[in-house]
Amino acid sequence: MPISHNTDVLIIGAGLAGLSAANDLRQAGRKVLVIDKGRGLGGRLAGRRIGDATFDHGAQFFTARESRFKAAVEGWIKAGVAEEWYSSYPGQPNGHPRYRGVPTMTAVAKFLATDIHVMRTTRVDSIGQQGNGWLAELDNGETVNAKAMLITSPVPQTIDLLATGNITVPTDKQARLNRIQYESCIAVMAILDGPTAIESPGAIALEDGPIAWITDNLQKGVSKIPAVTIHASGEFSAEHLSHDRMEIGQRLIDAAGVYLGDAKVTEYQVHGWRYSKPTIVDDAPCILLSEATDLPPLAVAGDAFAGPRFEGAVQSGWAAAKALMNTSK
Ligand SMILES: Cc1cc2nc3c(=O)[nH]c(=O)nc-3n(C[C@H](O)[C@H](O)[C@H](O)COP(=O)(O)OP(=O)(O)OC[C@H]3O[C@@H](n4cnc5c(N)ncnc54)[C@H](O)[C@@H]3O)c2cc1C
Repeated sequence: MPISHNTDVLIIGAGLAGLSAANDLRQAGRKVLVIDKGRGLGGRLAGRRIGDATFDHGAQFFTARESRFKAAVEGWIKAGVAEEWYSSYPGQPNGHPRYRGVPTMTAVAKFLATDIHVMRTTRVDSIGQQGNGWLAELDNGETVNAKAMLITSPVPQTIDLLATGNITVPTDKQARLNRIQYESCIAVMAILDGPTAIESPGAIALEDGPIAWITDNLQKGVSKIPAVTIHASGEFSAEHLSHDRMEIGQRLIDAAGVYLGDAKVTEYQVHGWRYSKPTIVDDAPCILLSEATDLPPLAVAGDAFAGPRFEGAVQSGWAAAKALMNTSK
């Protein structure tokens, strides 16, 4: 008999939005199940090891603006899973703290998942209404029955998921989902045979050309050995996402030459993020799709709602938890 799980709230996605929502819902006494297709926790907070080198290859840092989020960051620092990386770098001093996860960005997600039931490497294949709740079918053959559901995948994937169960949402809300767009990002992770020429604190943002950002993971404190993450610009990534990855990776390494100094690349891998950062976002911190419908409670959240970055994803998760708690009968 295939396993069937029962929960109050099914959360699709163990990224920042999903895990932040999960914590608030759990603290409010809800039974929560988080499902993620990825091997690791954190979604677009991603780390990778190649031999002795370690890379952050998704989000590189985060900033803190809003008071609850600032308090959360303080908590993460106290717990040893985050620290200030820098507040200015050569040419662009502005004194605004940039934080990083310790030892890597995913540490924050792991911390957020401490008390949360997360099923990893499990994809939600389809979702549909069943009675007063939701039924999700998973790629391992198992199913989940949930009273309420929160979807935090990048919005184009959320739209596809809604279509699997012919879930019709109000036209204005569907139009808001359809408007949202993301840029893509090709990320190169390269091991070097010596130190880079990048100045302290080990990061550089570029305005022109194929590269948008380079991190020296050794200086950042992520890697034990010289290793860089190169992020291509949105324009370059869109143009080359479907090209041969290693060939594009080599082009980006060549373009980064001056920042690598005398160091030579000994090995590299390439990752393509189809949905990297939202470029067109919604004005609301989340959308309660079930509002004013006969649908069981259903919300969508993520960085496309409360701001196209780490902090926005967390705040969107909190907003969605609140919206779902208000629907409870
Ligand atoms: C290359 C790159 C660089 C970035 N740099 C920065 C930066 O420096 N600073 C910053 O603030 N932000 C940065 N960001 C953005 C930041 O990473 C995101 O804003 C944030 O992590 C988004 O969190 P989220 O929870 O909204 O979505 P995600 O992290 O994308 O989480 C969604 C999760 O849903 C899962 N999922 C999707 N579909 C399914 C399914 N059907 N079944 C099960 N699971 C599913 C995915 O596996 C994923 O884990 C960057 C992002 C990228 C990719």
